[in-house]
Amino acid sequence: MGLEPGLEPGFDVPALPGASEDEIETPALVVDLDAMEANLRAMAERNAAAGVKLRAHAKSHRSPELALEQIRIGGAIGVCCQKIAEAEAMVRGGVRDVFVTNEIVDPRKMARAARLARQARVIVMCDDARVLADWSAAAISHDVTLEMAVEIDCGTHLCGVDPGEPAADLAARVAATPGLRFAGLQAYHGAAQHIRDADERRAAIEAAADAVRLTLTALEARGLPCPMVGGAGTGSWEFEAASGVWTEMQCGSYLFMDADYQRVAAAEGQGLGAFANSLFLMATVISKRPGRAVCDAGLKVTSLESGPPRIEGVPGARVIGCSDEHGRIEDPEDRLDVGDRVRLIPGHCDPTVNLHAWIVGLRRGRVERLIRVAARGRSL
Ligand code: PLP
Ligand code: MN
Repeated sequence: MGLEPGLEPGFDVPALPGASEDEIETPALVVDLDAMEANLRAMAERNAAAGVKLRAHAKSHRSPELALEQIRIGGAIGVCCQKIAEAEAMVRGGVRDVFVTNEIVDPRKMARAARLARQARVIVMCDDARVLADWSAAAISHDVTLEMAVEIDCGTHLCGVDPGEPAADLAARVAATPGLRFAGLQAYHGAAQHIRDADERRAAIEAAADAVRLTLTALEARGLPCPMVGGAGTGSWEFEAASGVWTEMQCGSYLFMDADYQRVAAAEGQGLGAFANSLFLMATVISKRPGRAVCDAGLKVTSLESGPPRIEGVPGARVIGCSDEHGRIEDPEDRLDVGDRVRLIPGHCDPTVNLHAWIVGLRRGRVERLIRVAARGRSL
């Protein structure tokens, strides 16, 4: 996808292609393309080896360009989205297979999903029979058959119907609703993803697998085929992939990783270690006193709910907090000085990316491309 002409570096974009790393204006979100592509390949290879499909979660990058790369070279059959507006941005950007892994209860959004299904394969999801009449009306009025998955609560206790009979009842209702086709089960255990201890994480996914099996048995008793079982994120996918129960992996963060997933990886050194951190915030030190420094990256450019970003390669230094525009750095060895550029690793990639219009694609010290976060802020 080409850049429109006339983009002004500094005002519109952090840098233009061809610029050197030092020429990038800060604070800027930067992706190391070599590291990102290695993550892309590692995930594709591992899923192929495990015999499961990858339906990468686009909530992490909100960028159709990156979604298309996940599909063309990263082994993905399509993407997941969390919001209808995200899905619309993906389809406008050329993606042809989207699963909206979230409950939709507003008939206007159902109409948008049905409209989208005229241009692309769209799978939607529910956990409550009360929405089915509105979904049916949306599908029929747009002359489409909507594929509808049923979400089960497999341990996170956020959304999802109870596994077993209640889930099979709902699936039967979906299958009997005009305009809808039962697409399978969604069994995503979000709370398991960042559990530090690998054995605990495995146990959480084993319990989730039991919930899925119980539901599959109940579906079979009703003679309802289950074409898909979706779920898994970067933290747990190796367990879902090996279970023989899930058919589609929905990992998202693997492309970028973040400081919190690094903490999970550091705690064990297993499968997660295959993915390197590729996403950075480039920042500049704007003030310095003995023992401390301040950089130009605050909470408007990095999310904080998983802790402050980590500084790379500055011994002893750590970000201890952010205000709107400032990052407060402890610098006990006084390694930093005014004007120094630092690379920060965001605590949590998904909400951090959503704060940026562009991701600067860097390869060996040069800006190779700018990646537009086209679905940035599109949470409707
Ligand atoms: N699937 C669903 C339904 C999700 O909500 C998420 C993230 O929250 C993911 C997959 C991807 O998880 P991760 O970014 O940890 O790979
Ligand atoms: Mn996340």
